[in-house]
Amino acid sequence: MPQSKRIPFWRSLRTKFAMTYLIIVAAVLVLLNTYPVLVSQNLAYRSKQTSMLNQASVLASALATGPEALTAEGAARTVELLLGSLGATRVVVTDPAGRVLCDVEEGSQRTDTEGRLALFWEVVTALRGNNAFRSDYLDGAFYSRAAVPVTYRSMTQGAVYLYEYDAEQGAMLQGIQRNLRTISLVIALVTLAMGVVFSQTLTRRIARLLGAIRTVREGEYSHRVSVRGGDELSRLADEFNELTGRLQTTEEVRRRFVSDASHELKTPLASIRLLTDSILQADHMDVDTAREFLTDIGDEAERLTRITEKLLTLTRLDTARDVQTVPVEVAPVARRVEHMLAPLARAAEVSLELDLEEGCVISSTEDDLYRVIYNLTENAVKYNLPGGKVWVTLRSDGDWVTLTVEDTGVGIPEADLPKIFDRFYRVDKARSRAAGGTGLGLSIVRDTVRQHGGAVSARRREPEGTCFTVRFPRLSGEEGGT
Ligand code: ADP
Repeated sequence: MPQSKRIPFWRSLRTKFAMTYLIIVAAVLVLLNTYPVLVSQNLAYRSKQTSMLNQASVLASALATGPEALTAEGAARTVELLLGSLGATRVVVTDPAGRVLCDVEEGSQRTDTEGRLALFWEVVTALRGNNAFRSDYLDGAFYSRAAVPVTYRSMTQGAVYLYEYDAEQGAMLQGIQRNLRTISLVIALVTLAMGVVFSQTLTRRIARLLGAIRTVREGEYSHRVSVRGGDELSRLADEFNELTGRLQTTEEVRRRFVSDASHELKTPLASIRLLTDSILQADHMDVDTAREFLTDIGDEAERLTRITEKLLTLTRLDTARDVQTVPVEVAPVARRVEHMLAPLARAAEVSLELDLEEGCVISSTEDDLYRVIYNLTENAVKYNLPGGKVWVTLRSDGDWVTLTVEDTGVGIPEADLPKIFDRFYRVDKARSRAAGGTGLGLSIVRDTVRQHGGAVSARRREPEGTCFTVRFPRLSGEEGGT
């Protein structure tokens, strides 16, 4: 018995689901932690750029009052005047060469830098006539620098440089970051818990299905599985139950067939055994009695042959899928059957009448069609009464060819009609046996007719007897090539 192998952890559906889930959640969390912070940083940068360049420009216009060069005292005065309205931590004013004229830091004048070159990148840019701005966010604080040229009638007289250290906005940003981290942690924990519950439920449901499949594989065809949820898995379970139901039916039919077939084969074999024992045990058997016994043995052997032949035909019908068919005209085949059965009909004192429409062509094989008509007509003769009648009629209407075999025989009780096409089913076992029947004839008829796209049915005939009707799809002239 093949044992189910354990699925490696990394291959299991659960791991695949969990990994996908984790990757998606991680991506969302990374995005949640970076994007808002980046946007806020960018916003702060832009607002600082605008406000600091504006402040620097106001100071620069206040400094550029005339064509005279800037002086250290003039610059210090103007800076002092405007310092209150500037948010900068350090203000530097330089001459056109970049030498410091005035340097005020946190409200007080720095004298150590006066006259030195202030060669910051921003100052150099401003002295070239352009505004410059730079802001860095480091350890929760913004370090921003802005510089603009001091111009009078397009003459560069110097530069104004502002420096600002801002921890307030930085703290705000850090607060946002902290909050986002807490939210992310909560989301991660909740999704993790949900993921574990989801994947365990999924695994449990799949395991239930797998368990059911294994049980059925062991031959327990009555086993059914119930997977709730109304999703694909429960649909799978429904389909599985449906499949198992069919398997169960097929298995039951197969078992019954095998047991019926064994029983049918056992009966003639037992008779043969009994007859041979009788011959062997008789001390002095006269030739006539021995011949009688041997004739019986021969009859039983013939019966065995008939049963096995019919079983083989049924098996062939069961397994054959694509049968090579040819256009077959029905009337000549029916006449051949009549010719073969005429002696039997004469012996049974039954008259056989044919009323056949010519030109009815179907897609089949001669042998199959012969078998169908032969079985039905033979039954009509076999289950008839002396002086009875059998009519074989052939008609075509539209797309169908209809063959009816009617008789005035013993008839079939209404209750037995649905079962007579079952294998080994016989209404009157003794009569069937006496007539050399096997109970397989009508099953063969039904299977053969179905294989060629037709249908067969039986009904009681009024006032007596039975009527069998077979319908085959009709082949038109072009299709049949006739
Ligand atoms: P069998 O070999 O016993 O004839 P069939 O499968 O041909 O087996 O028929 C099944 C049973 O149906 C027969 O045993 C018989 O009882 C009944 N049956 C079939 N055809 C007729 C008929 N024309 N009239 C009455 N009974 C019939």
